Formats: sequence, structure tokens, C-alpha cells
Amino acid sequence: MVKVKKEGSGQVFKNQTLEIFTRTNPMLHIITYGGAILFFLYLNSIDVKNSILFFLSGMFVWTLMEYILHRYIFHIKYPKFQYMIHGIHHEFPRDKERLLMPPVPGIILLSIIFCLYYLVLRKYTFPFMAGVVFGYMLYTFVHYIIHAWKPISGFKYLWTHHHKHHNPALENTSFGVSSPLWDYIFGTMPPKSSK
Ligand SMILES: [Zn+2]
Ligand SMILES: [Zn+2]
Repeated sequence: MVKVKKEGSGQVFKNQTLEIFTRTNPMLHIITYGGAILFFLYLNSIDVKNSILFFLSGMFVWTLMEYILHRYIFHIKYPKFQYMIHGIHHEFPRDKERLLMPPVPGIILLSIIFCLYYLVLRKYTFPFMAGVVFGYMLYTFVHYIIHAWKPISGFKYLWTHHHKHHNPALENTSFGVSSPLWDYIFGTMPPKSSK
């Protein structure tokens, strides 16, 4: 269990050049993943109705991927690796340069996910992946503003839900960030009385 620090920034690599690749910002994020969405839509060859259907399905499937990735990969039981990919965010939750996935590991992960879905969905993978990445972008910006901004009226429950996950005693709850849906389904909702 890491001690939460309200200020400062952690270090992933000793090598300063490698360290640059562990940081990102919202503009770079929009260019990288917005570019990926346009790329998938450009390669799409299916009709508009099915494209919309697969795009929306991709967005919905993303919410489950978000839950599974956060619960089983970002909180994997290999301490060094876990710290590199996510533990550092739990230790320094206010470090804005580490709130979003940097482009290099992001593109690698995206390519792997694309190939896996392509095995099943074939030509439908393009609009589907555009939806997955769009859902992913929404999730990352929800996560970013939860840490960087004060709660927006009507959405305060998202702030409460995620801040509970950052309470070291409740780290095994609240894995959903863009919605608590899968926490309800898989029984990982935090206790109501907790902070
Ligand atoms: Zn976490
Ligand atoms: Zn967070």
C-alpha cells in the first residue's frame, strides 16, 4: 500500500530520456487517440447504419474493458511493474502529467487490442475500435478532470466514487472511473459510509 503524497512527482526510470516517455498532456493525448479514431474511420468500409451500431457497441464494451484493465492489470500483484504503470498515480494523484496514458505504451496496447478484436470482428473491427478509443478518451478525460477540477454539478458521484478508490484502505473497490456500473455488477462498490 503506497503512502499518498499531495505534491510532487514520482520517477519511473533512472534514464532521463526514457522518463520523458512516461509523461504526457491533454493536447498530445487528443492528437494521438483522436488520430487513431480518424484512422479507423478512414479504413472503415461498412455501411453507415452498421458503422454507428458497431461504434456504439465499442463505446459500451470499453466501459467493461476499463473495469477489467483497472482491476486486474493496473492493480496486478507484481509490485515493481504495478508501480510503473499505475502505482505511481496512486502515490502522486495530483501529478497532472501522469493522469493520461503516454502515447508510446498507448499505441502498443491499442495495436494489440485491435489485433485481438480483428480475429473475431474482421471488417467490423474498424468502427468498433473507433468506438472503443472514443470511450477510452472519454474515460481518460473524466479521470483527468476528477483529479484536476472541482466536482461538476450533477456528476459529483463520479468524484466521490473515484476518490474512494484513492483511499488506500478502499483500493480494492471503485474500479470503474467513467461510471460505477461494473462495480455494481461485480460487487466492488465501496461502503456507502466511507470517505
Ligand atoms: Zn487504481
Ligand atoms: Zn485516479
